[in-house]
Amino acid sequence: MLIKRPVNCNYTSTKVAAFDFDSCLVMDATFTWNSNRPIPIRPGVISKLRQLHNEKYRLVIFTNEKTIGNRTKLGPIENAIAKKTSRLDEFLRWLECPMEIFVATADDQYRKGNGVGMWQLLLEDCTKYHAPSSSSSSSSSSSSSSSSSSSSSALVTNVAPNLSECFFVGDAAGRGVPKAGGDHSDSDLVFAQSVNMAFYTETNYFPLASSAGASVFDLQRLGGKHMVVVLCGRPGSGKTLFAEAFRHQDEWDIVSQDELGTRPKCEEAVREALGAGRNCLVDRA
Ligand SMILES: [Mg+2]
Repeated sequence: MLIKRPVNCNYTSTKVAAFDFDSCLVMDATFTWNSNRPIPIRPGVISKLRQLHNEKYRLVIFTNEKTIGNRTKLGPIENAIAKKTSRLDEFLRWLECPMEIFVATADDQYRKGNGVGMWQLLLEDCTKYHAPSSSSSSSSSSSSSSSSSSSSSALVTNVAPNLSECFFVGDAAGRGVPKAGGDHSDSDLVFAQSVNMAFYTETNYFPLASSAGASVFDLQRLGGKHMVVVLCGRPGSGKTLFAEAFRHQDEWDIVSQDELGTRPKCEEAVREALGAGRNCLVDRA
């Protein structure tokens, strides 16, 4: 197991919002990752997770990665760990709010689909785990560690989750036939059912973002405080649907000609947004 438990997670909350990682919070499965392109965070994920954190949910990732445990030599094991933890750290760097992370590295009771070992680890006292000293959860320098050594005074003892307030989101839900493009397994669904908490697929939980274009990464990642993005495309290609995914993000104003009526009104709305220091997404046919 690899475990990361940053300071300032909502450890005293009874509400747990838990997520699978590969093909859920990020669009790609592990084997397709390429360091030369941006991490394809699923659209809508960043804003939704920040919202949950602000609503005092305890954010958690439960992810299987037995490619680590399948290795037998030290070098390949270290490489497999680095590959996984670098992706997770990069995701947290963009998320900018803390998440607990549990990585099941072997085909044992901790692996989703086999048992609920990772959930039981969540219930353990978090003060026994090593934690980064920084209050920022997004520190990429912090290690994923299963160390049970020093405790941090900044951490507090876990509060037992109330299962009726907990849920898990994952893409391994047993949908369809694997060889025909269906889910590779039902391990996420089985995990949630075994813990006895609510389960959602990634497309159910992030519906607008999913239908707005699977290849579009989160615009939040482009950075900058005063950015204008103009959506282009043929009528019916999904521009408005894409824009809707950003309507409730604090940092973005949506400028829609369908709503405002004329080009001058759209231009004025863009000026207002930029004048207020906000990003602007222009949906104009
Ligand atoms: Mg997955």
